[in-house]
Amino acid sequence: MKFRNFKMVGFVVYGRGSFNQLDEIIAPHRQDGKPMVFLVDHFFDGKPLVNRIPVRENDKVIFVDVTYEPKTTYVDKLAQKLKEEFGAVSGVIGIGGGSTMDLAKAVSLMMNNPGSSADYQGWDLVKFPGVYKVGIPTLSGTGAEVSRTTVLTGPTKKLGMNSDFTPFDQIVLDPELTANAPANQRFYTGMDCYIHCIESLEGTYLNEFSKSYGEKALQLCQKVFVDKAQWDEECDDMLMMASYAGGMSIAYSQVGVAHAVSYGLSYLLGTRHGIGNCIVMNHLEEYYPAGVKEFKYMVEKNKIEIPVGICKGLSDDEFEKMINVSMGMKPLWENALGKDWEKIMTREKLRALYEKL
Ligand code: NAD
Ligand code: ZN
Repeated sequence: MKFRNFKMVGFVVYGRGSFNQLDEIIAPHRQDGKPMVFLVDHFFDGKPLVNRIPVRENDKVIFVDVTYEPKTTYVDKLAQKLKEEFGAVSGVIGIGGGSTMDLAKAVSLMMNNPGSSADYQGWDLVKFPGVYKVGIPTLSGTGAEVSRTTVLTGPTKKLGMNSDFTPFDQIVLDPELTANAPANQRFYTGMDCYIHCIESLEGTYLNEFSKSYGEKALQLCQKVFVDKAQWDEECDDMLMMASYAGGMSIAYSQVGVAHAVSYGLSYLLGTRHGIGNCIVMNHLEEYYPAGVKEFKYMVEKNKIEIPVGICKGLSDDEFEKMINVSMGMKPLWENALGKDWEKIMTREKLRALYEKL
């Protein structure tokens, strides 16, 4: 048995208004003449948060387009532009949801690694540490703030740059920043966390480390989406910690069926991570009976619409593509169904599941 020895985030600050400490936090990491680059979710363009970004001298604020989830081509373009304009930078700071945080991690790595980010999609392929990088979530749930990956769609695959160089050097967890998120988006991203917990806690890779974080994250999700009569500040506080703990839980276990199936959807149809997981979770009674029952209750209680019929009219070829992508996620299936997973989840069975979505 070989135990995972995983790299964690360097520094963590948590609290309402902790964003105001950003200037002080990054100051020691400023290098002469090299700017700090703020990659900010385009949602915040023209919003008051922009005036609170501690921009100094030749620092640069770039509003990143997250209409689509991050692509390797976009990462390469951003890194190239920064190299041309500045040569080198002091650091990259991502302010936004999981997509923006993943862009920040990837751009930081590509400032110091040759070639294209597509060359590093996989496990432990990144050669050199990136530049100083900071993650500041404005949506809670993905756990991207703590993970050792950055999920990118490349020319041939959708896969992260998984490496010990990938985690942030610093994260700023300020629940105030999630306050404006629309209820639907908040739910989809929040359910990403809930689903991480179910998949981790019901998985065969579970150990006491991931269990202790997973149980806490699950409890926080239940408080937010089951117990609370109305959304309030405490919900933002709790969900931000749920996301962190959920991310820590899967760091030492793995996700499962919902993610494995949802990756196929996002590869073929461009379905976003949070909503894709919800679309799949809606049909997973067979694998996670209690979790799916509670999920459906939360959907109803929070008055959320989960799309149905998204695979209607797809060709055999398209189903095959999704099945290939999904079947490729071996560790996820093994975590969910055990060593003999291929006997349980056959291509026919997976096709039938996709047809239901
Ligand atoms: P997102 O970052 O894709 O953003 C979704 C939408 O919400 C965007 O339109 C964005 O502009 C908007 N938004 C962000 N913050 C907002 C706010 N405070 N108010 C209003 N709108 C806001 O959403 P997400 O669910 O946080 O992230 C999903 C992404 O994270 C996917 O790209 C997925 O692949 C990635 N992901 C990464 C990991 C990891 O470990 N690296 C884990 C899970 C998911
Ligand atoms: Zn997820």
